[in-house]
Amino acid sequence: MSELLYQVDILKAMNQKLSQKEKMYRTVMDTVDGAILYYSFETGELASLGCWKKYFGFEIQDLREMQSIFECFRDKYELDLRDVLFLENSGKEQKEVECQRRNSGEWFSVCTSVIYDEMHRPSEKIIHILDITKRKNQNDELTYFAYYDSMTGLYNRNHFIGCLSRLIEKAKANNDIISVLMLDIDDFHKINDGLGIVQGDEVVQLFGGVIKQFCNDKVIACHLNSDRYAVAIYQPDDKMHSELFYQRIKERNEKPYVLSDGHEVYMTVSMGSADFPEAADNALELLNCAEITVLKGKATTKNCIHYFDVPLYCDFKNNIEIENKLKEAIFNRSFQLVYQPQYFADTKKLRGVEALIRWKDNEERMISPGVFIPIAEKNGSILTIGNWVLEESIRQFASWQQRFSYDFVMSINISAKQYVQHDFVDVLMGLLEKYHVDPTKVELEITESVLIDDFDLIIRKMNELQEKGIRISLDDFGTGFSSLSYLKRLPINTLKIDKSFIDTVLTDSATRIITESIIDMVKSLGFESVAEGVEEEQQYRYLHAIGCDIIQGFLLGRPLSVEKLDELLKEQNQ
Ligand code: C2E
Ligand code: CA
Ligand code: CA
Repeated sequence: MSELLYQVDILKAMNQKLSQKEKMYRTVMDTVDGAILYYSFETGELASLGCWKKYFGFEIQDLREMQSIFECFRDKYELDLRDVLFLENSGKEQKEVECQRRNSGEWFSVCTSVIYDEMHRPSEKIIHILDITKRKNQNDELTYFAYYDSMTGLYNRNHFIGCLSRLIEKAKANNDIISVLMLDIDDFHKINDGLGIVQGDEVVQLFGGVIKQFCNDKVIACHLNSDRYAVAIYQPDDKMHSELFYQRIKERNEKPYVLSDGHEVYMTVSMGSADFPEAADNALELLNCAEITVLKGKATTKNCIHYFDVPLYCDFKNNIEIENKLKEAIFNRSFQLVYQPQYFADTKKLRGVEALIRWKDNEERMISPGVFIPIAEKNGSILTIGNWVLEESIRQFASWQQRFSYDFVMSINISAKQYVQHDFVDVLMGLLEKYHVDPTKVELEITESVLIDDFDLIIRKMNELQEKGIRISLDDFGTGFSSLSYLKRLPINTLKIDKSFIDTVLTDSATRIITESIIDMVKSLGFESVAEGVEEEQQYRYLHAIGCDIIQGFLLGRPLSVEKLDELLKEQNQ
């Protein structure tokens, strides 16, 4: 009996120990994340631990109840889920699947581990189900930002290029067309400056929303940056094409965009359209073409759609190429000056020379100043070039004056940008002093474009120059807004009649009348007249007869190198 009691005590003690252990396991399992199912193949024991109730509202008591797990998840996961939950059928040790709950959409990972005995029979399995909704959403957010623009919800640039590239491949295979449109909000800086950056961003966002309404399986769109968007229309047709898209946007823009602070903003948009395969056969180039089209186009007309044009594009590319080469040329100083003689019409004696710039690129190709000077004027490098021309021509002139006693004038072309520099007069006077050149022997050729700026300020500067003795010549007269009446107000010494008049002066009576009245006017105002581009003897005779003072042109002399002009000056000296 005491033996039995003793055994009962031992069993009690063991039981107590076991229930303590189980309690410990339960506590651990309840605090561990996830729902866990333990099953022993050997004993048929089954335990469901952790968050079953919290996750699914039930606990698995029997293997047959596993079916309820399938019912929690969307149908499409059923096969994968079955593979995982009954992993022992495949002989594998561990497998995981991520699946989404049927109605609420939460994400769970379901992972099964199976332990096998020495005979490779399954002995135990543990199923671990974990709520991964948070991680999934974070990933989704990251994925979203990898493809979409956070401000507008449109595609971002990279995703758009990727999609456009795929569309191009498809269009290549099917001989289809894709129109790519670049959209640019007109005067966006005014919105930004006037209302503030936050409001500017809101405009960008609202307009993005407008574009988004057009997106479907044939139309994709992205926010490129700031106030720029791109749209691609696959196989444009009656329902959607560039012009129609533009019209729709234009109609929308007749109404204001209402910001969250109540401000109403009206805006217009310019567009450039380039088609695959006409303009380019890859996404980047196509975008480039559309961009150039809108930039070039909106320089003249805003609130308008502009279409890709091959000559315009080549021109643009060519200019960019020249611009790049020009930077190199400025760095290497690969310019030269030539000097074209000007003669008195009466005596045919040398009156002066006009310094003209020459540039040979690396391949020894001559690039005309008519081409690169306007580019340099646009990008500002004319200031560096102009300063070089100024110094080089004055230095050369000083050298000629020292070597030859012949008295003549050095004419130098000055760009408007150069002329309006606040230190222009000081720089010029500094150079004249440095090379000991008499200011009265220097003539600045400026065009009417100079006068477009602040007229009074420009005139004051002309007076200042003249007071210092420097001569001023009005170049290319007749090509700008030439009005004889403003000539009276201009403190100039010389007026150069443009070649276009000289070309037709013998054949066109209207030109003749204008030319004669210009020369009369110039005489009465006490200026000198120069005829540019005189190529024929008859032109010379006529111009001389109507009282033109000075003749410049290929007939009497082409632009000459320093050496050739040395020879000419020697002849003049004799
Ligand atoms: P521009 O100032 O009107 O210069 C006269 C242009 O007409 C020169 O062209 C000259 O070579 C050309 N020419 C002169 N006589 C004749 C002729 O009988 N027939 C023909 N067909 N052409 C004639 P170029 O040297 O090519 O210069 C073109 C323009 O480039 C110049 O027109 C001027 O606006 C600009 N340029 C040239 N050098 C300079 C410079 O150093 N600085 C600035 N700012 N502009 C310059
Ligand atoms: Ca000139
Ligand atoms: Ca000229």
